[in-house]
Amino acid sequence: MSRLHIVKLTCPHCQAENKSAVWDSINAQLNPQAKEQLLEGKINILTCSRCGVSSPIDAPLLYHDMEKEFGVEYYPFKSINDDNFLAGFNADGSLKPDDKLPIDVKQHYLFQPHYVFSMDELVRYILFRDKLAE
Ligand SMILES: [Zn+2]
Repeated sequence: MSRLHIVKLTCPHCQAENKSAVWDSINAQLNPQAKEQLLEGKINILTCSRCGVSSPIDAPLLYHDMEKEFGVEYYPFKSINDDNFLAGFNADGSLKPDDKLPIDVKQHYLFQPHYVFSMDELVRYILFRDKLAE
């Protein structure tokens, strides 16, 4: 599963209304092209149709790789001030298990993603995991 939506965004540079593609998850096997763009820093970037300035779109993004069996999830750093976000974690930084899920599903890599708070770190973590699998 990969998910892409089109959303209306205001350019932070000139305040023009734009429509832009926003990914909230990328599957390495199903969307190799989106993976390439992500590694080139071209995912979740608003390029303004009026002034042409590119700005990052601060949206959460889950990347997952079914072959290497890992997930890494970016959250905007401001999320650490959001009590609802924090409520999903244990004190050691692990994700709180969803009691509705069976134990073998809870242990699945997709339910234990590596969390990062910058898009650069997301890309670096993917490169790190890809290197380990070479
Ligand atoms: Zn603009």
